[in-house]
Amino acid sequence: MIDFTFAGKSDHSYSQLVSRVLEQEAQLADQRINALLLQELVEQFAILGQKLTEAHQQVLLMSRTDALTGIANRRYFDEILANEWSRSRRSKSGLGLILMDIDCFKLFNDHYGHAAGDGCLQKVAQAIHGVAGRPPDLVARYGGEEIVAVLPDINLEGVRLIGEKMLQAVRDLQMPHAFSKVETKMVSISMGGTVVIAADDAEPKTLIEAADRLLYHSKESGRNRLTVG
Ligand code: GH3
Ligand code: MG
Ligand code: MG
Repeated sequence: MIDFTFAGKSDHSYSQLVSRVLEQEAQLADQRINALLLQELVEQFAILGQKLTEAHQQVLLMSRTDALTGIANRRYFDEILANEWSRSRRSKSGLGLILMDIDCFKLFNDHYGHAAGDGCLQKVAQAIHGVAGRPPDLVARYGGEEIVAVLPDINLEGVRLIGEKMLQAVRDLQMPHAFSKVETKMVSISMGGTVVIAADDAEPKTLIEAADRLLYHSKESGRNRLTVG
């Protein structure tokens, strides 16, 4: 607001009045510009903050993802297993784990080439992820052509059910593997699935070791199957 209270006083000339009005106008304009600049600055900070959050989430996702298959990587699996192990110990709930391994994959690579092997691995990983990849479940690449599923709050029957669905999802891909030792001559996987309630004095690796023994049993008894225990 411009102050006119001095306008009628005789000892103020017209030019003084004009210059005072102009001065106040200039101040008001300055204030408006400052407010606009401040608003612009606040908006730019908000955009920058949003971009930083998005970049952080992107980096986090990349650090947890296996580049070839697009499923979780070994590092994230280790992290989630440790968390779920603690939760199982606290809540005394069943923690399931299925370890799986593509059958005769070396022969697949040898005959169809490594690039085709990569493609096969991607399809198998995505098919398994499609069965149980949503939290709290986790499907991750354990190593080479091995995939692992962490299944919290589950019993052995649940593990069997999900494992069978995963087996079927891979069969449904109907990818020929003419050199497989499995009689279907299609790409297949073998699995070992188990469940525990984490004990105070045990470590998560005991769960992996147990699943690995069951997986070995599946391999020994003909592949393309699930063994639970
Ligand atoms: P088994 O049925 O007993 O599991 O036999 P296998 O041939 O699958 O097992 P083996 O351990 O002899 O061979 C695993 C093969 O998996 C060898 C390796 O080159 C291949 N492999 C591991 N990681 C990758 C990958 O990222 N891409 C491709 N194309 N092949 C891979
Ligand atoms: Mg293997
Ligand atoms: Mg294999």
